[in-house]
Amino acid sequence: MQNPLAYLSAQLDEFKLAGSYFRLRELESACEPVSRVDGKEVINLASNNYLGLANHPKLKEAALDAIRKYGAGSGAVRTITGTMDIHMKLERRIAAFKHTEACVVFQSGFTANAGTVSSILTPEDHIISDELNHASIIDGCRLSRAKIHVFRHRDVVHAAEVLEGLKNVPGHKLLITDGVFSMDGDIGPLDNLTALAEHYDAIMMVDDAHSSGVLGQHGRGTVDHFHLHGRVQIQVGTLSKAIGVLGGYVCGSKDLVEYLYHRARPFLFSTSHPPSVPAACLAAFEILDQEPERVQALWDNTSYYKGLLKQAGFDTGASETPITPIIAGESKLAHQFSSALFEEGLWATGIGFPTVPQGKARIRTIVTATHTREHLDKAVEILTRVAKRLGILAA
Ligand SMILES: *Cc1c(COP(=O)(O)O)cnc(C)c1O
Repeated sequence: MQNPLAYLSAQLDEFKLAGSYFRLRELESACEPVSRVDGKEVINLASNNYLGLANHPKLKEAALDAIRKYGAGSGAVRTITGTMDIHMKLERRIAAFKHTEACVVFQSGFTANAGTVSSILTPEDHIISDELNHASIIDGCRLSRAKIHVFRHRDVVHAAEVLEGLKNVPGHKLLITDGVFSMDGDIGPLDNLTALAEHYDAIMMVDDAHSSGVLGQHGRGTVDHFHLHGRVQIQVGTLSKAIGVLGGYVCGSKDLVEYLYHRARPFLFSTSHPPSVPAACLAAFEILDQEPERVQALWDNTSYYKGLLKQAGFDTGASETPITPIIAGESKLAHQFSSALFEEGLWATGIGFPTVPQGKARIRTIVTATHTREHLDKAVEILTRVAKRLGILAA
């Protein structure tokens, strides 16, 4: 008998030829500015641990206390027995943080996006979506079976044309953008998009996965950054990046949240977080409130690092945030760049086509609040040396 999955092996061979094949690197320590990976100490510019909370003692203590009190698992989905008092406490805490009426927590940012978009829309509705929105938004759009209209990246005029064309078309309209785009580190034009949504009676939704804990006062996100409180109906965020733990959430009106309790499929059909997760997240929000200097340190490090890169002559694309791509060109070169950097002690992910356009392959670097100036000096020294060797920078 033939192996019915042989075509997958053939695909893998194609990935190898294209230079996009990878194997998973194994972290052998906590996620820290200097981490132990595959038997090697490397400066870690690859994580989303923006505020250095993933291994923070207060989060770990909170998680341990919760395990002692509530156990290791939650026992069921939220609608059966999987809602513990700390799950509800976290939702209230996030709603207060975001200045919204209510909040619902999902297992991940991915399920928050996919579960929300797919449950609030029907095939009669319309989605107007930035072409570079995250995969979880795209999946949510597809699952909803609403009509999808893609506008050019950050192009408010194009989005307006699309909405104008739909003016007399029946159905709900959902205008949706990432707050910060994960590959380029540029900021979505939420202010102008929100004005547009208001003009055309569309629902405004933002995915702040890379902006919560990063932009706005105390890291409240893009709605705060652009002073749009009360005007964006759906704010998605993640607990897996700056918050340092795991999960996703949707903030908005009480009725939106109650509707999602009743209809969002990941909420209904997948088990809730183990109690250690909401406990650690609660500790993280406590720190965000008490130590705004962490967010400041993130931005100080970001401008210091970007300054060094600029001096060295690197192309960092459209980045305006701690996400700093370094453009290499072809996919193969970007992956080579990433491997060579790793050998020299720097961990930065290579990202190629089709995740980013042809010729714009890159490594992506993310600075955190807890990197020291020495880490960043060393990182740029390695980047410069390797880039010259590979011809990415003129020698
Ligand atoms: C990472 C990310 C997500 C998914 O969040 P998880 O909590 O990791 O599932 C969603 N949207 C964007 C824009 C992201 O970058």
